[in-house]
Amino acid sequence: MIIVLKKNISQKDFQEVKDTIESLGYQAHIIKGEEKTVIGAVGSGRGKDKLQAMENLPGVENVVPILKPYKLASLEVKPEKSIIPVTSKVKVGGNEIIVMAGPCSVESEEQIIETAIAVKKAGAAMLRGGAFKPRTSPYSFQGMEEEGLILLQKAKQETGLPIVTEILNPSDLDLICKYTDVLQVGARNIQNFALLKAVGKSDKPVLLKRGMMTTIEEFLMSAEYIISSGNPNVILCERGIRTFETATRNTLDISCIPVLRQMTHLPVIIDPSHATGHWRYVESMANASIAAGADGLMVEVHPHPDQAESDGLQSLKPKKFERMMKNLSRFAEAAGRTL
Ligand code: PEP
Ligand code: MN
Repeated sequence: MIIVLKKNISQKDFQEVKDTIESLGYQAHIIKGEEKTVIGAVGSGRGKDKLQAMENLPGVENVVPILKPYKLASLEVKPEKSIIPVTSKVKVGGNEIIVMAGPCSVESEEQIIETAIAVKKAGAAMLRGGAFKPRTSPYSFQGMEEEGLILLQKAKQETGLPIVTEILNPSDLDLICKYTDVLQVGARNIQNFALLKAVGKSDKPVLLKRGMMTTIEEFLMSAEYIISSGNPNVILCERGIRTFETATRNTLDISCIPVLRQMTHLPVIIDPSHATGHWRYVESMANASIAAGADGLMVEVHPHPDQAESDGLQSLKPKKFERMMKNLSRFAEAAGRTL
């Protein structure tokens, strides 16, 4: 249920509304919009009539049921777009398109610093790099773990770029939070509910990647796990879904951008690298994503893709990334955005 509060509600009446919601066994999520403040009362559905009866409380304007299964992620609860603060300067979901770029895996100090300097020069706002890698094969490179996190921190000190890096295991949360600005939950973990709840208890924004077999509704239900655990700062990332097509690594679902726009207030970014699996297709898919209304991009860049420990084929060399960013600015402008 959405409890819509009166404009000039007193502190006492506000507390009464919140206490009533909680006494009925619901969680009270306070959502401050531009127009009005509402409380999302989220729970099992028991005692719904009593929630409805809260219209009689002095601070309440009205009570409306939330029809969608994803509640806190829905536009019903918050009609205006969410802007996710990463740092005081970098925000995802505003007018500025945010590009996160960097290698698939952190491999060495030289590699990550060289990449960070190059992507910053080309206009990236954030540095990506995996220290804990989810690999299909247990024999593939698994990541540098904490050593990789330390190198990411060095690259941040060198360039000022905030970091996004993947978390695989809830038990690594405190460690990774010491180093990162944004926690990435990868495609393979989209329905790892223990992990979703763990990052939902963190105060770091979460970049949630769509699974390769996840419907858009399931994608939002996973976001709902994070928000309902207490963390409203979720950035959705489409990275290609698995279809019958084999010419590309995955099939980029560009249509999810306008579809999600009709369903959620959360920002949506696109990862054209994992979506296509080949550097040659990255630029055109990046352009298409911005044209379709994406709020940002996540792009793999490596100074020596032929030597990469993972995903070399889909990684852009810094020069190509720079060219992509230059050309992208015209698409951004046409979409009424800045880059
Ligand atoms: C990644 O970003 O390096 C990654 C593993 O992506 P995904 O989870 O989308 O496969
Ligand atoms: Mn990768």
